Amino acid sequence: MNRMLKPQPGILGIEAYEAGESSIAGREAVLKLSSNENPYGPSQKAIDAYLAAASKLSRYPDSHHGSLRNAIAEVYGLLPDKLVCGAGSDEVIALLCQAYAGEGDEIIHTEHGFLMYPILAKAVGATPVQVRERNRRTDPESILEACGPDTRIVLIANPNNPTGTMISSDEARELADSLPEGVLLVLDGAYVEYADGYDGGASLVESCANVVMTRTFSKIYGLAALRIGYAYGPEDLIAAMDRIREPFNVGAPSLAAAEAAVRDTEHARRCRELNARWRRWLSERLEECGIPSDPSSANFILARFADPETVSRCDSFLRSRGILVRRMEKYNLPKCLRISIGDEAGCRSLASALNEFMAGDR
Ligand SMILES: *Cc1c(COP(=O)(O)O)cnc(C)c1O
Repeated sequence: MNRMLKPQPGILGIEAYEAGESSIAGREAVLKLSSNENPYGPSQKAIDAYLAAASKLSRYPDSHHGSLRNAIAEVYGLLPDKLVCGAGSDEVIALLCQAYAGEGDEIIHTEHGFLMYPILAKAVGATPVQVRERNRRTDPESILEACGPDTRIVLIANPNNPTGTMISSDEARELADSLPEGVLLVLDGAYVEYADGYDGGASLVESCANVVMTRTFSKIYGLAALRIGYAYGPEDLIAAMDRIREPFNVGAPSLAAAEAAVRDTEHARRCRELNARWRRWLSERLEECGIPSDPSSANFILARFADPETVSRCDSFLRSRGILVRRMEKYNLPKCLRISIGDEAGCRSLASALNEFMAGDR
């Protein structure tokens, strides 16, 4: 080890993020239900736009993402000047942490929150502070209690990953209003499109100076491979992020595909409907074979088992059937498996495997 070269404080304390597995040794076909990807894929219009962009690969992309920001603004009724795009919403959350927190500061996340949050906090030298949830649901009271003089940012996903639960628009507004001055509330809206009647916090951004909403093209738009997401927030915050982001942080094929995707509202609507239908079906099948879960507002279900040992055996059983789901030990949920909602065939395969496992386990 080179003693003269030391990473910045906090960096050696980071446990690297592990993505959901995508293969099983010795198996060609797997049913991947471990990363909340869209089983229907992106809009054909997004694929066409991506392919068309291949004829202009020698050109730098638009540094201001103007065309995409205008499309997002039109479709969702937002203001283009309050939008900034990034290489996935992970990048825009990282930019917020970089711009608004540093050494000695605290960033709050919840006990079953997204694993990237403590990583992003430590990456800027800040201290992640974990607060309790209430029955696997974000608890605004615990968040407010944890706020101190060093608190700079509160990071919550709503709906949350991996619980699938959410707080209401009213609860989010009350939380935003009750936070101490100078604390930024980031509402990570990666799964907003799957929730009924929730704007992800867009209207909250219009009325609060301390709220930013982030969204992604990785989930309902089916473009996880292209790395594109965005933040919607007050103009001064967006301007701060614009100063520190790389000018060409999003590639031109990604921008083109995302614009076509967001304009294809019919495809997004179909994906939302199919997800809702099969999410309901799957939760009922789980219930029938004795596996409880909380009502989910996202494109996955958090299945609860008797103990960690059963989880481990169930995971192995599913793997033997070529099915990959996500273990939850790192999310402080050792009795749970997170299962992405597949298409009809995927949900049926999963349900019949779980049914068989539970029948043999009795
Ligand atoms: C999947 C996910 C994201 C999206 O990340 P990208 O970088 O946009 O792919 C963000 N937040 C949460 C909670 C997620 O589950």
